[in-house]
Amino acid sequence: MVDPTSDLEEDVDEETAPRCVTCGGPALGVGRRTVTWVDGDDAVHREFCSADCRDEWEDERPWADG
Ligand SMILES: [Zn+2]
Repeated sequence: MVDPTSDLEEDVDEETAPRCVTCGGPALGVGRRTVTWVDGDDAVHREFCSADCRDEWEDERPWADG
């Protein structure tokens, strides 16, 4: 499904923000962290609400150790 507005993050609020992978909270604002990598033909994204949650994430990228 193509949503022409999906790239406009200015309107993101807590209801529509991506979920933090670590704590499940809304990932938005200045503390937001995004990790992106390519898995085969797909771009994979992981969103975090803060640098702390980013640090706690168990790295699932293919080249990560464990
Ligand atoms: Zn979080």
